[in-house]
Amino acid sequence: MQSIQAFYPKLPVPGKVIITTHQKPDGDAMGSSLALYHFLTVLGHSVTVISPTNWAGFLKWMPGANKVVDFEFSKEVAVRLIQEAELLFCLDFNVLHRTKHMETVLAELNCTKILIDHHEQPQEAYFTYGISNTAKSSTSEMVFDFITESGFGDKINATIAECLYTGVMTDTGSFRFPSTTAGVHRMVAKLKETGFNHTIVHENIYDSFLENRIRFIGYCLLNRMEVLYEYNTALMSISKNDLLRFYIKTGDTEGLVNQLLSIQGMKLGALVIDRDEERKWSFRSKGNFDVNTFARAHFEGGGHFNAAGGRTNDSLDATVWNFKKVIKQYQEQLQ
Ligand code: 5GP
Ligand code: MN
Repeated sequence: MQSIQAFYPKLPVPGKVIITTHQKPDGDAMGSSLALYHFLTVLGHSVTVISPTNWAGFLKWMPGANKVVDFEFSKEVAVRLIQEAELLFCLDFNVLHRTKHMETVLAELNCTKILIDHHEQPQEAYFTYGISNTAKSSTSEMVFDFITESGFGDKINATIAECLYTGVMTDTGSFRFPSTTAGVHRMVAKLKETGFNHTIVHENIYDSFLENRIRFIGYCLLNRMEVLYEYNTALMSISKNDLLRFYIKTGDTEGLVNQLLSIQGMKLGALVIDRDEERKWSFRSKGNFDVNTFARAHFEGGGHFNAAGGRTNDSLDATVWNFKKVIKQYQEQLQ
């Protein structure tokens, strides 16, 4: 992978561009992809964002979201677009399997591939150019850097700013996590100067749920949470039945894992959800407990130091049992 700077001279040459991101895109995945979409469109490129799967209802308001192609829903169109692409941008993921069923299509692609991402251990050999920086708050911050460093900072309009703000806001827990540097705040100041309304962004993201989702969270906190005080760990496991009973859709469980860390003294929050094809883990930690390494070592996953995910084919009960076994090795690190 060559440096992203080596790509800058090629940036103004209009071409057919595909932007993609990880499955079940979150605010940063969608925010960075749509910001880049609007920016490259301003430069005269012909751009399509393709998401490997559907996305949460609380992201549907975003400018351009209605033009994003869902690979699972429109597979033939998506495959054709990908195969015709001259440039492929991969945002907010760095290993191809994070694109689920798109992986095989992307693996065979010969066009120029550009990585912009902040996760650990990128699959560098796949990408022609790129930047991987785990110190960055969000991929959206990196897209901001990409636009300004390449000399096009003046192209950032209110639409692009709104998308970037959404991504950095969601990935920093509303400017709370340690990754929220002075540079992040300087960027936000510049974005604000375009005139976008940040209060509306917060409302669209955080106050747009239906009654069932709030009741579901109450139910899970009451009935599905276990606090393992000896490990400073809060664990939550949600069954398929729970999801069906409350009509839970993509995105409705977003942020739930953070609730676990709001209990005094907790160092690790672990949430497992019984999804159709797998049991999916979300891990969050405070301080020096590295959930990226933890998820890689025991749960076929990875991510960041304080936020990671994992998966397994085991049953929900077996998965929880395994977690309780694994956690024993970490008692000291969790004090
Ligand atoms: P979440 O818990 O919000 O799904 O994911 C937390 C972080 O870990 C995100 O940055 C996400 O990209 C990453 N992540 C989630 N699941 C996986 C996984 O199965 N493998 C890897 N490598 N990263 C993951
Ligand atoms: Mn991100």
